[in-house]
Amino acid sequence: MTSLRELLRVGPAVDLKDIDPGTTPGLPGRKVTGKDPKAWAREQLASIGGEVAVHQEMLYAGAKASGDRRRVLLVLQAMDCGGKDGTVKKVAGSMNPLGLHVVAFGPPTAEELKHGFLWRIRRALPEPGVVGVFNRSHYEDVLVARVDSLVPERTWRSRYWQINGFERELTDAGFTLIKVMLHISYDEQRERLMERLTDPTKRWKYNPADVDARGRWTDYQAAYNDALSRCSTDHAPWYVVPADRKWYRDWAVANLVLEAFKEMRLSYPEPVFDFDAERRRLEADRAPAMAS
Ligand code: ATP
Ligand code: MG
Repeated sequence: MTSLRELLRVGPAVDLKDIDPGTTPGLPGRKVTGKDPKAWAREQLASIGGEVAVHQEMLYAGAKASGDRRRVLLVLQAMDCGGKDGTVKKVAGSMNPLGLHVVAFGPPTAEELKHGFLWRIRRALPEPGVVGVFNRSHYEDVLVARVDSLVPERTWRSRYWQINGFERELTDAGFTLIKVMLHISYDEQRERLMERLTDPTKRWKYNPADVDARGRWTDYQAAYNDALSRCSTDHAPWYVVPADRKWYRDWAVANLVLEAFKEMRLSYPEPVFDFDAERRRLEADRAPAMAS
């Protein structure tokens, strides 16, 4: 069976127009599972979450007990309402918060603007043994920065190779990068914006500026096409996940994470102490006499 990573990975000439956000690539159909695809995907998500948690623990244990420098970084990008928050909740929700480092990137602060665009990204990287999740990332600097002309064209153009060099540095240092673009349709975004407006529990998420960004949809899709095409490398490929169906999106991202973990071939570290001597010590252990 082809892995989901092979199926969703994009090459050097991506056009989002060719990827239908409503599809569910790699999801076995009703004939195979005997169940409604949505119910099946939700059920699977729970068991994948359990497996991911075990791998995460081994990653953490390896860093703590034997100085393993490896770590994982999940990068999530999407148009507004693309479902980054929901994905973080569903996919990272099964992990131990102690070994998890979730960071959301908004517009750079005055302090951040004094430095190169990768400065704040480097500071937010996970420590060895930890799983990092970026809700938006350094890719904003070739997306919104390009569409809104926040910097001159020559500046954002030079960033693609800077990003590739930076990510090479990360993978050389023991990072596994999982870069995921949650791909929603124009119509689905409208539905979700409308829901944010009408549902009182979601209204706090509504940002009128999202509607301005929506007005530049085509420019954003072009900027995404370039970012994905130029920065989907062998060491740090991009995956495009059709994301109109939330249950498929969660299942797919969880699977991408699990597949990446499996490839790392993690295991629990061997003890560095004398195991038999320690066991004898504990076996000989007696309760202390209670002070009267
Ligand atoms: P949702 O998808 O749920 O709307 P969000 O990711 O948009 O959530 P917000 O806090 O509403 O979260 O918005 C973050 C904003 O920060 C986005 O509009 C994004 O374009 C902007 N941003 C992030 N990085 C940069 C950057 N490097 N330069 C300029 N703007 C940035
Ligand atoms: Mg927003």
